Amino acid sequence: MSQTEQFDVVVLGSGQGGKLLAWHLGRFGKKVAVVERRWIGGSCPAVACLPSKNELWSARIAHLVRNAAQFGTQTDTVKTNMGRVHGRKEDMIDREIAFHLNAYKQSGVELLMGTGRFVGPKAIQVALNDGGTRLLEGDSIVINVGSRAAVPDIPGLKAARPLTHIEALELDYLPSHLIVLGGGYVGVEMAQAYRRFGSQVTVIEPGPQLMGREDADVSEEIRGILSREAVGVLLNAKPVSVDGLSGDAVAVTVRTPSGDRKIEGSELLVATGRVANTAAIGLDEPGVELDARGFIRVNERLETTAPGVWAIGECCGSPQFTHASVDDFRIVRDNMAGGARRTDDRLIPYVMFTDPPLAHVGLSEREAERLDMPVRIAKLPMSNVLRTAATDETAGFMKVLVSAEDDRILGFSMIGSEAGEVMAVIQTAMIAGMPYPKLRDAVIAHLTVSEGFGPLFANVPARSM
Ligand SMILES: Cc1cc2nc3c(=O)[nH]c(=O)nc-3n(C[C@H](O)[C@H](O)[C@H](O)COP(=O)(O)OP(=O)(O)OC[C@H]3O[C@@H](n4cnc5c(N)ncnc54)[C@H](O)[C@@H]3O)c2cc1C
Repeated sequence: MSQTEQFDVVVLGSGQGGKLLAWHLGRFGKKVAVVERRWIGGSCPAVACLPSKNELWSARIAHLVRNAAQFGTQTDTVKTNMGRVHGRKEDMIDREIAFHLNAYKQSGVELLMGTGRFVGPKAIQVALNDGGTRLLEGDSIVINVGSRAAVPDIPGLKAARPLTHIEALELDYLPSHLIVLGGGYVGVEMAQAYRRFGSQVTVIEPGPQLMGREDADVSEEIRGILSREAVGVLLNAKPVSVDGLSGDAVAVTVRTPSGDRKIEGSELLVATGRVANTAAIGLDEPGVELDARGFIRVNERLETTAPGVWAIGECCGSPQFTHASVDDFRIVRDNMAGGARRTDDRLIPYVMFTDPPLAHVGLSEREAERLDMPVRIAKLPMSNVLRTAATDETAGFMKVLVSAEDDRILGFSMIGSEAGEVMAVIQTAMIAGMPYPKLRDAVIAHLTVSEGFGPLFANVPARSM
């Protein structure tokens, strides 16, 4: 049995918030260890946000070049070199790894590469990747083990060895026909990218719309954008069986309202949701409880049900975005120091990085209906934003929800060029509690996308309450 090593804080899993917390505490002289089984820096820079956006950008370049003639530039036949796409992404990851290793060094935090599990209330045993074990005890433990792609229980699916986002981002060749199971954010981003690289792509979604939680008009607009690029989208298509092998020949049989259909392709990507990495980490030892879906139960201060054990990020049900995990870090940092920060009073925006992107913050129309909350809604097609007359980026719209009782902005959705950046302006106004007429009447630089705020907010119906 290895000897126990004592730390102020042990972080299990180097997720996005956990590593920041470790570096912060390390810089303040605390003795901190981080246990990571595979990815220096966690999934975001290694297999999720950064690599996917890196390849999406390559796909956007391919799309622009393919359509260059529309803008007056003649090109020869456009062909994507997936080896170079992959190589560019790998170069970025190498830079990320170097950045992270330097941050560990500068902060004095020890990074242990191995798989950790609780063996006591505040004791973590690490099976080191290089062999051997170490036993760490912390005054506090922070769990930041993240989640992984769910592989649903469909006959033949596991045997078909489908890609998850991890393997899809490792492809250095072009699939001839990529079948994507799941029309959520990950599936939709990848579907558009691979189509733009040159693959035939079919998205299979069991529900009635893509991105099930979005407003129907948002989802429909994205479907239209994909369809115009010849991405096949099957809605209300429930996969019932899979035959063959991804990477060779694979077929998915789907049940649709009009009967069964067989979709044949070369590669199969599963993008049907996430499962928390909480099953095999000995959570019984400290008495950390899970909810019905396997996520760690935390209070709004991010304390688990075990004293001195905190949780951060996707493993405890925080919204599945890096910026949510990063904000969890700020909450735990302050609460560890005796503060009173909470998760239930924060505004978490998100962006789906399709082209054009979808950005959303605050209340959606669907949520307002569910809550029976009276709101005023204004919409503006992107074709009415003057900038798009110059760029031809006319797809999409801006939509704003304003309180029916006063002039507060409650929510904003946008599909359009620079949607994420434009949304940040609205988010700032929401945080500041700025009444919408201030934005409507602001002088916004011509010819920017945000110039659309004038006509958008001018469309807000007058208050009747
Ligand atoms: C394809 C894809 C694209 C995405 N794009 C975006 C985006 O554009 N923007 C955005 O905000 N979010 C995006 N996300 C979501 C984002 O990646 C996550 O929300 C983010 O990484 C936060 O995760 P986390 O902090 O919970 O943990 P993670 O970053 O997942 O880290 C958890 C770490 O714990 C390690 N671990 C697990 N168990 C153990 C164990 N027992 N011992 C040791 N180590 C362990 C794992 O190896 C992993 O490195 C994307 C996700 C995917 C899949």
